[in-house]
Amino acid sequence: LFNKDLGQHILKNPLVAQGIVDKASLNSTDIVLEVGPGTGNLTMRILEKAKKVIAVEMDPRLAAELTKRVQGRHNRLEIMIGDVIKTDLPYFDVCISNTPYQISSPLIFKLLEHRPLFRCAVLTFQREFAMRLVARPGDNLYCRLSVNVQLYAKVQHVMKVSKNNFKPPPQVESSVIKLEPINPPPPVNFKEFDGLVRILFVRKNKTLSANFKSTPVLQMIENNYKTFCATNDMMIEDSIDIKQKTQQVLESLDLAEARAAKLDIDDFLK
Ligand code: SAM
Repeated sequence: LFNKDLGQHILKNPLVAQGIVDKASLNSTDIVLEVGPGTGNLTMRILEKAKKVIAVEMDPRLAAELTKRVQGRHNRLEIMIGDVIKTDLPYFDVCISNTPYQISSPLIFKLLEHRPLFRCAVLTFQREFAMRLVARPGDNLYCRLSVNVQLYAKVQHVMKVSKNNFKPPPQVESSVIKLEPINPPPPVNFKEFDGLVRILFVRKNKTLSANFKSTPVLQMIENNYKTFCATNDMMIEDSIDIKQKTQQVLESLDLAEARAAKLDIDDFLK
């Protein structure tokens, strides 16, 4: 029987399984990373199109079942047993994954950090998470996750998958998305970028000017600025007025009255 803690819901509908694999536009030289192959419903279809599949599966029992199922083609399937989040990923061209929803966020950022960059990933997620990934400026679900992921990738909604396509059915609806990394990635320090986005999405409908007047935010910027000066051998002006400086920067960019909910990646990069 299936292990609920590992989010084991097997995709039963062959049309959906084929649809997911087709969306990856595989070619015969591709090495595919499959995360959470389960009993192999996607794996068998991927093997028909690609050169090799490297599958990371946490449950050794399912890994054994999958080994049995591939039989003659096992030389083109490599199974790594373990938690994908803690695994050093090998080279791959394409990633296909229908994994449990608890690891959605760590998985997507792990993929985006992977080098060299892969061509695309076709990923199945809980519907709401998927809609956040593809949300555009002005959409209700546009959030920190949307911005951080769209900084590094083009993301597109591929299809809805209702819970009845799985056995046992999960509690929530799912969606498949396709993600294509932007190559080369924008040259930003992700920790700093995420720090900024985090501040602005606490109140995404407030003006940036208002967000940057909050005392804890100003305190943090001042501390960071002092650390920056110290580590770069720069003099710190005694009379520095961080509040005023921050507002000047926003005005010089014409962003003081803008709201995070409506800004695109280029605005955040500015
Ligand atoms: N891909 C199969 C399918 O579509 O029928 C199975 C999908 S099932 C929703 C998720 C699979 O991911 C299970 O086989 C589960 O054991 C595996 N899994 C769960 N957590 C994992 C993790 N952290 N790393 C790797 N595999 C994991």
